[in-house]
Amino acid sequence: MTNRLTVSLIEGDGIGPEIAAATVRVVDAAGGLIDWERVDAGMGAVQRHGDPLPQATIDSMRRNRLSLKGPLATPSGGGYRSVNVTLRQQFDMYANVRPARTIPGVPSRYQGVDLVIVRENTEDLYAGVEHYVDPRRTAAESIAIITRFGSERVIVYAFEYARRHGRKKITLVHKANILKLSNGLFLDTGREIAKRYPEIEFEDMIVDATAMKLVIAPERFDVIVTMNLFGDILSDLTAGLVGGLGVAPAANIGSLDEASGVAMFEAVHGTAPDIAGKGIANPTGLMLSACMLLDHVEQRGAAARLRKGIYAALADPATRTGDLGGRADTAGYTDAVIRGMAGTIGQA
Ligand code: NAD
Repeated sequence: MTNRLTVSLIEGDGIGPEIAAATVRVVDAAGGLIDWERVDAGMGAVQRHGDPLPQATIDSMRRNRLSLKGPLATPSGGGYRSVNVTLRQQFDMYANVRPARTIPGVPSRYQGVDLVIVRENTEDLYAGVEHYVDPRRTAAESIAIITRFGSERVIVYAFEYARRHGRKKITLVHKANILKLSNGLFLDTGREIAKRYPEIEFEDMIVDATAMKLVIAPERFDVIVTMNLFGDILSDLTAGLVGGLGVAPAANIGSLDEASGVAMFEAVHGTAPDIAGKGIANPTGLMLSACMLLDHVEQRGAAARLRKGIYAALADPATRTGDLGGRADTAGYTDAVIRGMAGTIGQA
């Protein structure tokens, strides 16, 4: 018997509260054994607490080690740091996991795509090591940091993810033909780790060739593991292959200490201020993020039921939302997801 788990829920800004309410409903209906602990972040938190990331929120995430997060508006000016960046640093979220899968009914250029990008999220050109080379600021330099430690933990995570999810192949993406030391270190680390997982096929691929193959034959990929910059670009590319950011889920995997980690699940899209409060937002990205959370905590039955409901509701324009060419509002779609879990979607 699986125990109930407490998960920190950050509803977020804009459409966040609407899609979070819909997601809580469907997780319950799917039989997810989750108790939600609601905490604040973003613009709402600035208004209520004068802080976009209150300490109580950090404490809750630290205690529960699991969180589901709606989109956050980063307040501009006022000296506030990006909450997303602060969270990444607080919890050392080193792996960003972005599945891309074609969903029947969702408009998309391709069929049969089912891949996952595991992106290293703390190093590389985004390590923040930049400076002007000369006093007149006519030249600038950004340094890409790649460490064996950082490479190892994200590549091990990718292999463990593949093993847990029955995935067959890892493609390590790099540019080691040119960046022989930094990218070479990532590649060498990958080759060493691959020997520990003989049941999983391992290949490496140069990033430019990967970009082309993703467009020509995305169905040939299974799990891609790569460094921060390439992962940033390729994961938006793969979201575009399968219907866009509106239906894209993500997980951020972090380490609190050596013994155990944290995981934060979120939709990839933003706060959609243009449609906030209208009841028409598409909650699929956050719902699929909740499926990842349920898989992560081994509540696989609930995850499978929820995915079944989502796919059933998305298959029919009458039950999907307007952004996907459908006619349903958020509540109507959510009802359809629940009916879809029971296999009664076509029935009144
Ligand atoms: P956005 O994703 O919020 O919106 C882009 C377009 O997509 C809009 O037309 C919007 O209506 C539509 N859209 C997005 N999600 C939708 C959904 N679930 N259902 C229906 N339509 C949807 O991107 P933006 O306008 O560039 O950003 C708005 C705000 O969100 C900014 O403050 C930005 O900083 C923030 N943001 C936050 C995150 C995050 O917290 N992870 C990510 C991206 C952007």
